[in-house]
This record gives sequence, C-alpha cells and structure tokens, in this order.
Amino acid sequence: MRAPGSGPGCGQGRDAVRLIGPIGTTASKQPPPARPVTANYPVTNSPVVPLATRRQIGRALLRWYKEHQRDLPWRKSGDPYAVWVSEIMLQQTRVESVREYYRRWMLAFPSLDLLAAASEQDVLRRWQGLGYYSRARNLHRAAQMVVAEWGGKLPKLPKELQRLPGIGPYSAGAIASIAFRQDVPIVDGNVVRVLCRLFALDTDPTRAPLKNTLWEIAESLIVKGQAGAFNQALMELGALVCTPQKPRCSDCPLSRVCEAHRLNRTASLPALPKAAAVTRVRNIAVVATRRSRVLVVQRPQDARRWPSMWEFPNMDVLTKTQIPSTINKLLAPLGLEIQDRKALMSFHHAVTRYRIEVEAFAATKISGKLRPRSAARWVHPDDLEELPMPAAQRRIARALEKSDL
Ligand code: SF4
Repeated sequence: MRAPGSGPGCGQGRDAVRLIGPIGTTASKQPPPARPVTANYPVTNSPVVPLATRRQIGRALLRWYKEHQRDLPWRKSGDPYAVWVSEIMLQQTRVESVREYYRRWMLAFPSLDLLAAASEQDVLRRWQGLGYYSRARNLHRAAQMVVAEWGGKLPKLPKELQRLPGIGPYSAGAIASIAFRQDVPIVDGNVVRVLCRLFALDTDPTRAPLKNTLWEIAESLIVKGQAGAFNQALMELGALVCTPQKPRCSDCPLSRVCEAHRLNRTASLPALPKAAAVTRVRNIAVVATRRSRVLVVQRPQDARRWPSMWEFPNMDVLTKTQIPSTINKLLAPLGLEIQDRKALMSFHHAVTRYRIEVEAFAATKISGKLRPRSAARWVHPDDLEELPMPAAQRRIARALEKSDL
C-alpha cells in the first residue's frame, strides 16, 4: 500500500501529472508527481492520467457496468471466501468454464473451515478438469494457514493476503477491493489490454517498465470508495467489449477517450510478445485389467505436473515406431508383463502450449505380480471416480464405463 499523503495517489501528487499520449496534453506542464513510498507491486516513476480524464473514465465505466455486467454466481455473494475461490478459479480459465466448477466447489466446501479440513485428494478431485492443479493445492494450504494464523478469517490487506500461497498481487487486489472494499487496483490480462489501448501504450506490457506502470495507472483510475465495482468493470469491459480480436469500439463507453480507437491502432495493441510455439507430443497409455479391476498408478508427490494424482501407466514417445516397444516396457517396473493388447481409443488433448495425441491401449492379457510397495493399485472401475486424475486420464476412465473390458 502507498503511505498516506505520498505519491500520485494522494494530495497534490494525485492531480499533478505527466501525460500518457495526447489525451491530456494540457497537463504536460505540471510538475512531476512525488515518488510513491511503498506499494504491493513494483513502482516506477510513471506517468498518470489527468483528473478530468480519470473522472470521465470512472463515471462512464461504472455506469456501463451497472447495465451490462454478467449475472455471475460469485458476484451475488459478498463472502470473502467465495470471492477468493472465484478469483483463483478464474486465473487462466474462462468464465463460462468456471461457473459449474464454482457451483460444485461451493457445495463441497461451502466455507473456508471446511476446505481447510478436507483431504488433499478430495480437494484435487473436486478441481479435476480445471487444470493448473497448483491452484487447488495452494487454496487448500492457504485455507489451513488462515485457520491456523488468522482464526479462520481471510486478512483484509493486500500485503497480508500475499503471504498466503497462491495469492499474488492480482488476487490480493481482487479480494481486497471486491470483498473488503479497499481502494487498491487489479491488473489482469483484460485490464492490460484495455489500458494499453486506452492510452496507446505500445511497449511490451509483460515486462518492466510498462508492466509496473500499468499498476500505477490502474491505481490512479480507481473511483474512491468503489474500487471493487471499478476493477470488475474494467475487467468486464476487457472480457465483453475490448476483446483481443475485433474490439467493439462502437459499443464502448470509453471510445471518446480511447487513443487506440482514435489512432485506429486497436489491432496492434497491446504489444504482446509472440506466443510460444506449439509443441506436439504423442502419449501412450495402457489400461491393464485383472479380475474386473484396472491398474492405476499414483504420480510422485514431487512430480512437476499433476503431483499425487492418479493415472493409467503412460509414457510420451517421439515416433509411432516406438509405440510397440513402449507398451511392452510400461508395466515392467511394476512387475507385470503385457502378453496381448488392443487399441482402445485415441484423442487430442491440449495443455498450455502442448498438443498431445493420446493413444490408449487395453492390455487384454498380462502376466506377473504387482510389486509390493509400488505406487500402483488395482481398483474397481466404479471407484475411479473417487481418484483425482488429470483431464486426459479421466477421459480414458470415462470411456471405460462404456467399454466391454
Ligand atoms: S474504444 Fe475500442 S479499443 Fe478503446 S477501450 Fe473501447 S473497445 Fe477498447
């Protein structure tokens, strides 16, 4: 947080501005703002926006948000726990995908105390399909910390919230402003896009100095006492109107002050770095059955991806020609050998920049005995639903329900 009475957020500093783009050329002779003292995010000696423009943006945006905001379940609740869960789920995930997960999560863990008391396997199982499982683990660990250190109540200040696992500057700002009415900013992907276009900021927003400057601009725009609504309005505008492709400038409440719109530069802003190239991967999985049970393996606790989750034995291969030898090798570490097999299913699956072609085989005849103390287990297919599994593995498990294995 900025210290009271210092920096561009207070007193003279707030209205004495250096200007971004031509919106406020009249203010360019004003003295530069005093340097802020402290903040929850990196601070630069950045330009801020003239008071009249800020007021215009605030009024227009709040009016628009009142009329156009989506009816989302977490917006109906002022419960800080509900706000926190929704904000973590919404990271990297589209609103429409989150709705159902959020509903199910709140039924399973309606309060922070119940989440803290749940087992990690149960938490992962409720999260499965949403991806980025570290978010679920962090929510769980953070809930336990809040119970142990804060008496079960989420702290209110961003710097306190950021001590909890999985809560960075964005989530801290969201929880503090929406749930606790603190006048603090949020900068997520939608806000980055809107601000870069609004002020025609054409350097890379993922790096300093612009990355830090955007936080200061976002803070300078906040309508005092209404930061929660204002922050959500800015994000909602980015999600519904100022979209990555073909922004609907004619419907935008900010079009009269928008530099990208005036300069016809909406297509080239924000100046994001090129996305990482897609990597194609082929993954081979084996479903081994014995006495109406299927073989699943638990991933190590320290695995880089999907730690502690369950899966069918599987391995990535570089070429199709490696498939037969890979299948034969897959069960060997568990003390089993595949005698016969048949193709079960194949499908494509995307995880971040990876495009994975999954080929699953049914091992119809196996020999040997499962090594004791291996991380594998024979389970009844009906019990697979109880185990947390990564999305591709769950897809295979669901296919088993319809197969005659
Ligand atoms: S006018 Fe267009 S580019 Fe500017 S903020 Fe609105 S939608 Fe985005």
